[in-house]
Amino acid sequence: MSWFFMDGEQEIGPVSKAELGELIKTRRIDGRTMVRAESSDAWRPLAEMVGSKTPRTPSGASPPATANEAPSESGQAQAVAPSPVAVPNVASRVCSQCGRSFPQDQVVTFDNQVICAACKPMFVQRLREGVTLPGILTYAGFWIRAGAKIIDGLIMAALQYAILIPMGFLAFSSTDGPGIGLILFSQLISIGIPLAYNTFFIGRFAATPGKMACRLKVVAPDGDRISYLRALGRNFAEMISGMILAIGYLMAAFDEEKRTLHDRVCSTRVIHK
Ligand SMILES: [Zn+2]
Repeated sequence: MSWFFMDGEQEIGPVSKAELGELIKTRRIDGRTMVRAESSDAWRPLAEMVGSKTPRTPSGASPPATANEAPSESGQAQAVAPSPVAVPNVASRVCSQCGRSFPQDQVVTFDNQVICAACKPMFVQRLREGVTLPGILTYAGFWIRAGAKIIDGLIMAALQYAILIPMGFLAFSSTDGPGIGLILFSQLISIGIPLAYNTFFIGRFAATPGKMACRLKVVAPDGDRISYLRALGRNFAEMISGMILAIGYLMAAFDEEKRTLHDRVCSTRVIHK
């Protein structure tokens, strides 16, 4: 299902649930943002939408969360109380927040996270505060990143040869061979193209064409875009990753956030879109 949300006076969408999650995390929207499902004309605050599976009137919604509210005993009692319409044999689901099991009809899901009724106010509050939700940033592993790298490598090689081959013809067609200026220029091309390519694409689109093709992007730890300057710096850090048998790249395979050495140095993460 797709969603629309209000940004000031403007209606924006359709966006996916995952994109809504991203927007919450980057604080572009919060619990007070008015949202509606694509199939519906009813605008409601996001906080009320989170997890509600069936449209209900505002009076039927759970009471608003307060900042310091921990799941209370009464809240949990309410959660385990049988629903008016008992559904026999429903699969039990484990709440991602408190770890307790509940019947399917007493939990709600948001971004593949199961939330029980008792935990929902706290969960919504955390969404409002922009707390990073595990599962929204899905870190990209070593192999897909290697695939993206290969695509980028091919594109950059094509760019370099597009410049260097005509230059080579020029150089060797002259009687005294390539001059020192030409050699330096070709060196500059082979360093400058990757620098410009990575900095431009990551600074502008958060992903190089290879990463776009693999549906990956480079972000800050909180999921935000990184600046051109940080994208540029990441190039130099990546050069270090390439040294000593490319151990800096291999580190991604053993890191729980799949960080390479250059991700660590620049505090970046590569995630699935
Ligand atoms: Zn719970």
